[in-house]
Amino acid sequence: MNIPFSTFTPMHNEIKTDMQACFERVYEKSWFIDGDECHQFEKEFAEYCKTEYCVGCGNGLEGLYLLLRAFDIGEGDEVIVPSNTFIATALAVSYTGATPVFVEPKLKTYNINPCEIEKAITKQTKAIIAVHLYGQCADMDPILEIAKKYDLKVIEDAAQSHGATYKGKKAGSLGDAAAFSFYPGKNLGCLGDGGCITTNDRTIAGKARAIGNYGSDKKYHHIYKGINSRLDELQAGFLRIKLRELDRWTKERQRISERYLNEIKNPKIILSSVDKKNTHVWHIFPILVEKREDFKNYLQNNGIGTVIHYPIAIHLQDAYKDLGFKKGDYLIAEKIAKEELSLPLYYGMADDEIDYIIQKINRF
Ligand SMILES: *Cc1c(COP(=O)(O)O)cnc(C)c1O
Repeated sequence: MNIPFSTFTPMHNEIKTDMQACFERVYEKSWFIDGDECHQFEKEFAEYCKTEYCVGCGNGLEGLYLLLRAFDIGEGDEVIVPSNTFIATALAVSYTGATPVFVEPKLKTYNINPCEIEKAITKQTKAIIAVHLYGQCADMDPILEIAKKYDLKVIEDAAQSHGATYKGKKAGSLGDAAAFSFYPGKNLGCLGDGGCITTNDRTIAGKARAIGNYGSDKKYHHIYKGINSRLDELQAGFLRIKLRELDRWTKERQRISERYLNEIKNPKIILSSVDKKNTHVWHIFPILVEKREDFKNYLQNNGIGTVIHYPIAIHLQDAYKDLGFKKGDYLIAEKIAKEELSLPLYYGMADDEIDYIIQKINRF
């Protein structure tokens, strides 16, 4: 057997003619930025997330940045981010001139531990970025409660959690505003880079749109020092096609993950937990294993691909040397960086492939 960590092929084969027709449509129309496809997608994705507004942008990192700017966060401010996340969460904060302040996750769900947040709040704290990591929503109620108490904004980093729910409410609709990524490998991905923000706050939606359009709300009138971060027509058109299939594709990720959860029985492998309040969309299927190198090689030798999310905790990355952290400062993030491994998971995995993976894991 040769099972990759991920592949788009089964998904993309199903929609190939629609995608080609979309290309033809946009090509013939010859309108590539800020047109019908983007506006329609924004409407459809807002409906999907059950929010008032959706604004397309260049990618997930810029979505977060646009929201931070829209909330007037910048130099001298602090923003709380989980110590275990993709580095983009922290980079968005740094780009505004503000400082990311790390808070440890819970090991069981990998998401920020609300009980650790209050300790990290100072007079400079302006916002909390709640990352819904690996496809499962952060525990939002206590986070929103703390935010209310200290008058902080809550921004969701929903880059890995399209369609996930918390107490029946969709990711993207749980905080003051949310950013999504449509990087190809995300659960909803385009054929390049793309992203959006969602919110019920009209002012924030308008500001984010303006800041992503050179700071202008009217052509050649610039009210902010903005950037160029927009979702182009082709990508928006592709996303509209994929959005229609997303829930069906997600169900398959959930079915495979359920099998892993129920059938992997090896004391060396620690599975994650799904919070009862959540429906998990399994952007990735993470496990913890002490002998990770051995395990990864063993699977590789058996034709099973895996990926580490993520091998170095953010506070120990060279890019964040300036913050002056050292090994041991965020022990849970460091443990995850040392032991996490993501199993193959994609729409179109065959049952005998799932059987084979589970069997090999249980024999390790
Ligand atoms: C992918 C990702 C981002 C960044 O999205 P891009 O579109 O790649 O810029 C941000 N946060 C998290 C948690 C992500 O997984």
